[in-house]
Formats: sequence, C-alpha cells, structure tokens
Amino acid sequence: MVMKRKVLVVEDSPVVLKVLKHLLSQHSNFVPVLCDCYKSAERNLIAFDDEYFAAIVDLNLPDAENGEIVDLVLSYEIPSVVLTGNIDDDLRLSLLNKGVLDYITKDSRYSFNHVVKVIDRLNKNQNIKVLVAEDSSTSRMFIKILLERYQFQVIEAENGQEALAKLENDPDIRMLITDYNMPLVNGYDLVRMLRHNARFQDLVIIGLSAEGDNALSAKFIKAGANDFLKKPFYHEEFHCRVIHNLEAQEMLETIRNLANVDPLTKLKNRRYLFDEGERYFRNHTGELSLAMLDLDDFKLVNDTYGHLTGDALLKAVGAEILDAFPDTLACRFGGEEFCLIAEVGVAEFVAMLERFTGSLRGKEFTEAKISITCSVGVCGNDVASLDEAIKLADNNLCEAKRLGRDRLVLGAH
Ligand code: GH3
Ligand code: MG
Ligand code: MG
Ligand code: MG
Repeated sequence: MVMKRKVLVVEDSPVVLKVLKHLLSQHSNFVPVLCDCYKSAERNLIAFDDEYFAAIVDLNLPDAENGEIVDLVLSYEIPSVVLTGNIDDDLRLSLLNKGVLDYITKDSRYSFNHVVKVIDRLNKNQNIKVLVAEDSSTSRMFIKILLERYQFQVIEAENGQEALAKLENDPDIRMLITDYNMPLVNGYDLVRMLRHNARFQDLVIIGLSAEGDNALSAKFIKAGANDFLKKPFYHEEFHCRVIHNLEAQEMLETIRNLANVDPLTKLKNRRYLFDEGERYFRNHTGELSLAMLDLDDFKLVNDTYGHLTGDALLKAVGAEILDAFPDTLACRFGGEEFCLIAEVGVAEFVAMLERFTGSLRGKEFTEAKISITCSVGVCGNDVASLDEAIKLADNNLCEAKRLGRDRLVLGAH
C-alpha cells in the first residue's frame, strides 16, 4: 500500500486547477487538495496543518495579488513550488531566498508536467541518503539545509576519513558531496580511493572547489567525480546539479537493469550470466555449484493452451525460482531453460533443488491450473570455467530427460 500524500494547490484559474488536479491524481502517491483563493488555502491550513507534503501556489490570487500565499505556506514549513505568469531576476531571487523550492512560469502546457515532476522528485528524495564531507561546519550546515529543503536524508562527515568509514558502513548512501581541503584525507584522495573500489562505482560524487583554483575542478573529475561546484555557489545551481547527476545515475541503473534482466521472468538474462557467472568462476574461493533446469514437455503447454498461457506459466516459474533461490545467481538461459549458480557445496545445492522441484510438483499455475515438472542437471566443484560447468550440467540434464524427465542428475565428474 502506497501512502498517499496531500499536495495543496492554490490557483484561481479553473483550467490550471483542473490540469494540475488531473496530473497529480494520475500519480499513485499524491492526492491534490484544491483551493481557488488565499482565504480558502488559509482555512485548509488552519484545519489540517502539518499534513501537507508539498504546495503548488499561484503568485497572483484574487484576494492576494502580491505573492502573500508564499509567506503563508512557508510559515507552515510546507515545501513549495511557485507558479507565476512571468519572472524577473528580482522576483526569482526573492522567492528562492524565502525558501521556495522552485518557480515555474505558466508559459506552456509542459509547465504543469514540470511542476508535478518537481513534487515527484521530492517524494523520491525522501528515500535518498546524501553524505556531506566538509570540515567547515558553516559550509556543511549550509549544504545540509539546502539538501533537507529538498527532502534528502543528510549524513555529515568532518573529514575524508570519517566520510570513508560512513560510506563503508552504510551501503544505502547514494550521493557524496565533498570538499577538497579537509584534514586526514582530502576530498581528491577520498574520490580516488572510492573509485578504486568496485563497491562505490555507482555512488554519485560532486566535488566542491574553492574559487580561484581552476585546476581543482578538472582534478576532481579526473579522479572520478561526476561533477563539481565552485564555492561560493548559488543554491539554485547547487540544486540543479544535484538533481541532474542523480537523474543521470538513475537512468543508468534503469538501462543496466533493462540490459541484464529478462523482462518476462524477471530473472537475470543470459548476457548477465556470461558476464557475472564468469567472474564467479574466476574469483571464487569457496564452493560453487551450477544447475541447468529445463521444463518438461513445455511445447505441449503452448500447443494445448496457447503461447500467452505458456508465457504466464514461464513468468510464474520465474517467480518460484526467485523465491526458492534468493542468494543464487538465477538466469533464464533461453526459452524454458534456466541456469542457477550458487556459492554452496553440491550436496547442499542438490537438496535445495530437490525441495524446489518437489514444491513445483504440488502446484498449479495460471488460470488454466497447469501442473509442470522440470528436469535438472547439476555440476559440482572442481570445474575450471563457466563454459565447462554449463557443458557438464547440460549433459546431466540430457541424461535426466533420457531417463524419463522430472528428475535430477548429478552424474560423475
Ligand atoms: P522437453 O521435456 O524435452 O524439454 O520438451 P519441451 O517441449 O519442453 O522441449 P522443446 O525444446 O521441444 O520445446 C521447448 C518449447 O518452449 C518450445 C518453445 O515454443 C517454448 N518456448 C520457448 N520460449 C518460450 C517463450 O518465451 N514463451 C512460450 N510461451 N514458449 C516458449
Ligand atoms: Mg575545507
Ligand atoms: Mg523443455
Ligand atoms: Mg528446452
């Protein structure tokens, strides 16, 4: 269940109100609360203060023509986005200095999508941890306030060494904003150390460099930072860079996911198996076992119930595999064949596989209530490569089919 968040919308134009209501309602997280004037917003806030997640307010209202609504919503500490007919530098600065998150001009129909995007970003930010490494407490506090205004979870470190320790202890930290000049370990060395560690490849890093040192920004980027900011920076630029880099990283994760995951079964795909599985065989020190699974008489399922039902069955079996083998590299090898690699000894793996095929036997899948069995070929330790392990497991799988299906063959090797 997603907890719905109330978004206060104060706008006198019925058309704009309708568009925003529509866009916010489409979003599964938000419930718009609509007010068409200052007075109505005030009544709502008095009745239900501290319940609003965010506010979208029009600067020009019939009963408050000069942006009074901004002071009202900010006095309730509601993160707010301003809608305005036009903007000049003075107005922009005065709004941002008051603490408004963003301002959006109503000059195109895309403006309204943009407003909802800003609110959605706030919602996502609540789950994102950002580490600020900076020895100056004033500067650290300034950055923390800016980040918290955008709803990020902020963690602080006073030097590079402390930052490293916090990053190592908390794998959920997604972004690091680091100063250069810090005691013990400086920002540049920190970035270099992090990028030499595979664990921190996806951490978003923004370096901060003092004015006057032009070489530093390039140095940060060369060490592996995603971006840099020159101090003193203006908070609008800071926010843009933070969001921009975060979104680029999120996009990368989406693409990587699309490249590595089979869309039907949600298991890893064959490409991932050959990349990652190879690494397993190269680097493992402990035990390693591999199994090839093939569903029995699957063609019959397609011939009897049609391809779509066949797909639904594959999807259901994929979910069963994910559930039964949580710590195993589980891939859809192709068609109705799966490959599993587990960091356990062969006896333990065989027991897990027997439990799995046993539970499969007792179940019915899809609306057509189809029963399915599967044949398994296993290969144990002492194999040099992924290719060899697959070949051995495949031979055992063939033997399982030959012996009448619905069984596991370990074979001798
Ligand atoms: P066996 O017990 O010998 O494995 O028999 P089988 O029918 O399972 O094996 P066979 O290799 O002859 O057929 C596999 C079938 O799986 C044929 C193919 O149409 C079906 N198949 C492969 N990929 C998909 C898919 O993505 N969706 C559906 N619905 N069927 C698929
Ligand atoms: Mg410093
Ligand atoms: Mg089959
Ligand atoms: Mg097959």
